Amino acid sequence: LGMPFAGETLLSDWFLADVHMDGYPRPDTDASVHWHRDGVLLIFPIQPGRYRIIGDLPHTDGKSAPTPTLDQVQALVDQRGPAGTRLFDPVWLSGFRINGRKVASYRRGRAFLAGDAAHIHSPAGGQGMNTGMQDAVNLAWKLALVVQGHADGVLLDSYSPERSSVGDEVLKAAERLTSVATLKNPIAQGVRNAVGRLLLGLPSVTHGVADTMSEVAVHYPDSPLNGPGLRGLMHPGERVPPMAGQVPVGAGPAPRFAMFADGTPNLAALAEQFSGLVDPTIRPALREGTISLVRPDGYLACAATQPEPIVAYLAGMANKPTASALVRPA
Ligand SMILES: Cc1cc2nc3c(=O)[nH]c(=O)nc-3n(C[C@H](O)[C@H](O)[C@H](O)COP(=O)(O)OP(=O)(O)OC[C@H]3O[C@@H](n4cnc5c(N)ncnc54)[C@H](O)[C@@H]3O)c2cc1C
Repeated sequence: LGMPFAGETLLSDWFLADVHMDGYPRPDTDASVHWHRDGVLLIFPIQPGRYRIIGDLPHTDGKSAPTPTLDQVQALVDQRGPAGTRLFDPVWLSGFRINGRKVASYRRGRAFLAGDAAHIHSPAGGQGMNTGMQDAVNLAWKLALVVQGHADGVLLDSYSPERSSVGDEVLKAAERLTSVATLKNPIAQGVRNAVGRLLLGLPSVTHGVADTMSEVAVHYPDSPLNGPGLRGLMHPGERVPPMAGQVPVGAGPAPRFAMFADGTPNLAALAEQFSGLVDPTIRPALREGTISLVRPDGYLACAATQPEPIVAYLAGMANKPTASALVRPA
């Protein structure tokens, strides 16, 4: 495709071991991080008695990081991790190197990149799979609306800018976390350990970390799809959290925008006019007197107090048969 995967490979080797283990001194739901002067060790419970252990090792010269033996992993756990464990029955032992790489644009003509094909980075923070799935969610409804003939092909142009900026942030965050986790200077290690313990004891910090890791904190403030907003309401491009008792916006085989508004009778006609784009069910207003249009992936598209800006937004998005970007040459 001629899409350079720009970035670098880190100069350290890592191992991954999915093993059975006796003697883990914490509940089987608790992951743990063990910082040692020689490197970091992370232990993630997978199911009762089975764990994923990840750690860094000095860089070797080979083409790829060597696969560790169970004895080597046991020795590393004894050195860096909790005392008194016994590893057995390995399910998967592997060595890997960390790349931080990304394509500049996620689209070339009819080809769209998502997941690790578009961005790869350190597993620190556990964002790779989540980011790839959100790429797919972002692209799927746009493709569906265009392929089904409801939206203009230009809608697809928003995929790369929206997801590429998220990819940039994920790469930066993973890089920062990896640098902190692999500090070699003993004084810096001491500061990291003390500050880490302090911060991770604060509920506001742990909630922030959870929102970031689950990626519900992702927003699209600079999206070309953002329409007009209203002062005092969330901004276009912000995620509208799913509401208890409501079907999630965009659910089902035919993704549609959802309108949130109170008792304006002509809105049903508006939904009918754009029936390929908008769900006929009008949901309760996000704030009294407002009309909000929420994208099929749950982000606010635009908001107004009168229907006209909503009509203008939808008219701009509706299919114009002559201009399908899907058939645009590369
Ligand atoms: C040690 C480690 C720990 C990780 N931990 C986490 C974590 O905790 N949380 C998280 O979110 N992510 C984590 N990740 C990242 C996550 O595994 C990846 O981001 C994710 O698997 C990428 O999914 P993908 O579908 O984009 O690519 P892949 O999983 O690489 O899937 C691509 C598939 O395409 C197939 N394929 C390739 N070429 C062709 C072809 N020509 N024709 C047909 N098929 C082809 C491949 O065989 C493969 O099955 C971790 C990664 C590593 C290395």
